[in-house]
This record gives sequence, structure tokens and C-alpha cells, in this order.
Amino acid sequence: MPRVVRTPAELRAALRGQPSVGLVPTMGYLHTGHATLIRAARAENAVVVLSVFVNPMQFGPKEDLARYPRDLDRDLRVAAEAGADLLFVPEAGDMYPTGFSTRVELSGVSEPLDGAARPGHFTGVATVVLKLLNLVQPARAYFGEKDWQQLAVVRRMVADLNVPVEVVGVPTVRAESGLALSSRNAYLSAEELERATVLSRALRAVQAAYAGGERDAARLRQAGLDVLATEPEAVPDYLAVVDGDMRERDAVDDDPMNRVLVAARMFGVRLIDNMPLDARQHPGGQHPGDQHPGEL
Ligand code: AMP
Repeated sequence: MPRVVRTPAELRAALRGQPSVGLVPTMGYLHTGHATLIRAARAENAVVVLSVFVNPMQFGPKEDLARYPRDLDRDLRVAAEAGADLLFVPEAGDMYPTGFSTRVELSGVSEPLDGAARPGHFTGVATVVLKLLNLVQPARAYFGEKDWQQLAVVRRMVADLNVPVEVVGVPTVRAESGLALSSRNAYLSAEELERATVLSRALRAVQAAYAGGERDAARLRQAGLDVLATEPEAVPDYLAVVDGDMRERDAVDDDPMNRVLVAARMFGVRLIDNMPLDARQHPGGQHPGDQHPGEL
């Protein structure tokens, strides 16, 4: 079983002198997507640290902070199986003691999409990620492509602030149905999970339009929105085709960083997903990380 440490001081003591550390930041309630990040870290580092912290700073006042699923036993089990050495599980008061006054705020990549829909969200993400990077001082830190804009924000911050870490992006792990694995899927019933596949189906429709030669961003978007509209329970927040800097353009080019992102509210839960615009980046239509792990 991995060792559990609770405070920044314990963490620093446990890691003293460790040469090659890989960090996997999470909010817990681990599933096979998280396990894939841990395994990637395991393959490349002597020591793997998993942080489990439901970061209050990245939740809006009307969001699901209070009901976010938490289960440390489950997290320990998944973390052990995937090969983590150390679980860092701080309390909010350890991360944000009285008097805490600093925020890491990005412009540009953090502004549209989830940045617009969730004011302050990426400031909370960037602040906690920089704190974790400073606490753990890892050689590499692992983030899922599932949260594509978050990955762009973290890469931007690390570059802008000269943080000495390699940011590793890990492809999205999906259920066989196509649904991207997410801790928030725990809010949904089996039938609702099935209906939530409308998100990945909408993204695939955009990929299909692109593969058919469509390069007009509005028409690419419409191909996805048409699929979303078939599911009355899906209330779209956005569906956008963006470049690597999260900018929407009128016409898309063949840059492999072009991506289609979607967010929608379904059954009271906000779900997000994304895919590369060019599905051929995934041999045989399958992303290398597209595992079909069943339910975890
Ligand atoms: P979370 O616990 O949801 O904050 O996620 C922690 C990390 O796991 C983030 O870097 C996520 O992008 C990543 N992650 C979450 N779900 C998946 C998934 N289905 N596939 C790959 N990575 C994921």
C-alpha cells in the first residue's frame, strides 16, 4: 500500500533526496483514467506521488464542492494497483492556511470556454497546481487530455513562470460506450450514463465532418450541435473548435493541435469532453489511450 501523508511538512520530509519524482494531481475518487496517469508516471520515475485534494479554490459558489465524491479507501486501492508510492491528502487548511493571499491568474488560454463558464476556475487550478509543483518538486507531472483546456493552462503557466518540470499529457480513457471516464460520472444512473454518450457522439460527428473535407468552423460546430440536439436532456454550454491556444477561428487548418471541445449539463451534472479534430491522429480511429476498462 502507498504511504499516506497529510501535511506539506510530512510530504517534504518523505521526498527529501529523491532524485526522480513523478506527480499525478487529482481530486480523488479514482477511476481507470487516473490509474493510467499513475502508470505513465510509474514507467518514467523512481517515485510516484499522487495528490488527492478536492481544491475548494477551483469550485464556484454554486458548484458541486460539497457533494463531490470522496472515498480514500477506494483511492488507496486504485493507487496501489497502479503503482503509486505516496498519497498526499491535505486538508484545505493545510493548503490555504489563514492569511493565504496569493493567486496565479492567467489570461489568454484560461479565458474562453470553461474559463468563461466557470469564473475563477482556472485561477484555482493554476494556484493549486503551482503549490503542488513547489511542494513535490517533481521531474514530471501528469495531466489528462480529458481536461484539455486545463492541460493548456498548466503548460502555459509552467512555461511562463519557468517551472522546472516536464508536463506530460495523457490521452483520454473512455468506457466502451465512448463516454470519457470522470469522477462526476458517479452522479449518474446506468441509463443516464448511456444517454451521456451524446457528448462523445457529437465530437465524433465533428471529426467525421472534418474527415469529409469540411473546414468551415461554423459548419463543423453545427455537425456536433445537431447530434447534441437529439438528446433533450443535454443542455449545451459550449461546443467549439479551437486551436492550441484555445482560439476559435472561422476556418480551420490542418494543425494537429486543433481540437473540438464540448461542455453540457445533463441530469444536473456538468460534463466535458474533447477530441482532436483529425481522428487520424489515432491509428485505426483509436487513440492509444482509448482503453475500454469497463466501470471503475
Ligand atoms: P480529476 O480528479 O478529475 O481532477 O482529474 C485528475 C487528473 O486526471 C486530471 O489531469 C485529469 O485530466 C485526469 N483525468 C480525469 N479523467 C480522465 C480520463 N478519462 N482519461 C485521462 N485522464 C483523465
